[in-house]
Amino acid sequence: MLQNIRVVLVGTSHPGNIGGAARAMKNMGLSRLVLVDPAHFPHDDANARASGANDILENARVVGTLEEALVGANLVMGTSARDRKIPWPLLDPREAGAMTVEHAGQGEEIALVFGREYAGLTNEELQRCHYHVHIPSNPDFSSLNLAAAVQVLSYETRMAWLAADGQATKVMKYETTSPRSTELVAMDDMEKFYEHLQSTLVDIGFLDPEKPRHLMARLRRFYGRSEISRSEMSILRGILTETQKVAHGEPYKRKDQ
Ligand code: SAH
Repeated sequence: MLQNIRVVLVGTSHPGNIGGAARAMKNMGLSRLVLVDPAHFPHDDANARASGANDILENARVVGTLEEALVGANLVMGTSARDRKIPWPLLDPREAGAMTVEHAGQGEEIALVFGREYAGLTNEELQRCHYHVHIPSNPDFSSLNLAAAVQVLSYETRMAWLAADGQATKVMKYETTSPRSTELVAMDDMEKFYEHLQSTLVDIGFLDPEKPRHLMARLRRFYGRSEISRSEMSILRGILTETQKVAHGEPYKRKDQ
């Protein structure tokens, strides 16, 4: 699906930005780069900034006009750093990502078009686009570096693609000590814990059984919010046991002695 998406850079002056854009694309799983009349390409600065995404540069298509770059494209998104005079259907990058993935998923060809570092896209070029996409940046400093803008759009495209594909967006890390250590404590164990906690609080004089002042209810509410795992519960129970030993006059012994 991502192979249906092409990134089009129009009239790029700095070859370093082409390399930066290639890297941003490859990080997000995009691979098709089209360059419209770049000032310098191929160029060492492009290779240097691509750092590992050189295959995207090698396979980049260089054309003379935006029209040529858009041949075969069914949906064209033109990015712009500022408001233009002519009102046009406008999307934010998240909406653009969702629409891009929806159409790419139907086998359509999508083009994400980016403008010149100093002048952006011309009005004529913008009018060739179905939608305009504006990254909602600081209005007093709205223009992102070209490769950074490519990164934002590529990232939103990837997030939409991962969601559409049912893939996780985060790497879950579990405690490795025991496969069951992250399992939540069962209610009956919670009840044993509350009994243990209550008797400990009485032992140390924190809870007066004559005047309980809803203390246990408050503690239940607090621990209930905490999603306590089995390994965390054994720590809490251990603390209570040691606390009771001290409260009952057993000599205090540091664990490391
Ligand atoms: N002075 C130019 C800035 C161009 S920045 C102008 O005012 O248009 C180079 C390219 O990066 C832009 O053409 C656009 O493709 C992209 N870009 C930079 N900032 C952006 C933003 N806030 N939203 C969308 N695209 C942006």
